[in-house]
Amino acid sequence: MRIFDPHIHMTSRTTDDYARMAAAGVLAVVEPSFWLGQPRTNPGSFTDYFDSLVGWEPYRAAQFGVVHHATIALNPKEANDPRCRPVLDLLPRYLDKDRVVAVGEIGYDSMTPEEDDAFERQLALAVEYDLPALVHTPHRDKARGTRRTMELVAASGIEPGRVAVDHLNEVTVELVHGSGCWMGFSIYPETKMSPPRMVELLRTYGTERVLVNSAADWGVSDPLLTLETGNAMLAAGFGEDDVDRVLWRNPVEFYGQSGRLDLGPAPAGEATFAGSSIKRGGS
Ligand SMILES: [Zn+2]
Repeated sequence: MRIFDPHIHMTSRTTDDYARMAAAGVLAVVEPSFWLGQPRTNPGSFTDYFDSLVGWEPYRAAQFGVVHHATIALNPKEANDPRCRPVLDLLPRYLDKDRVVAVGEIGYDSMTPEEDDAFERQLALAVEYDLPALVHTPHRDKARGTRRTMELVAASGIEPGRVAVDHLNEVTVELVHGSGCWMGFSIYPETKMSPPRMVELLRTYGTERVLVNSAADWGVSDPLLTLETGNAMLAAGFGEDDVDRVLWRNPVEFYGQSGRLDLGPAPAGEATFAGSSIKRGGS
């Protein structure tokens, strides 16, 4: 099984995790920028972090044979802090970088006017830089937050197929399904979404435009829950091709829209990268 984790915060993980992931078939990851637990107090704190996401972390991943790309944004939570907002003016220089494959995570945390503004401005940046957008949905008041997310995405004029709406569950999936946007699911050990529940959703909604991630960070999380979801799919009667589509070809297609996904030389006889604009080899 080859696995592409489309949303995982490797900054918070150890080299043991990289080793386990590589052994489990996790060959590629996308690391969205997000908050760091401890609130940032100035824009420089963001730029050091962004530099690490496009410099140090891909180097660390490569030592384990894992291909690393990033998404860059002011996250929804810190969009409320006037000390952090000036970073919005610094984003363009990062959105030009080779290994940046989307604008994200953007979206809502508490649904404040400040979050509206940052969300709107960053969707406009995604359009301007011709990048997909990775949208976080709030953990509290989730249905209302997702509804408002879909309204703002529609008003922004971004092509829905270039937007992934993440952290969905059984309630909010209905609000995104049929919109043309991609549906992201974060699988956690205890909360939010489990492999068996994910399998049920795949039975109901199919495998098209579905992204499954571990979203692993500093909280209780597990970077191998993508593998566990693949195994749960097989046990439930899905075929290997379905698993490959959900865990590999879908994220390749979504982030391939950036024109910057660089997965290295394609394995011999491999035809599944065809159709998306993906660079092979080089850097
Ligand atoms: Zn995240």
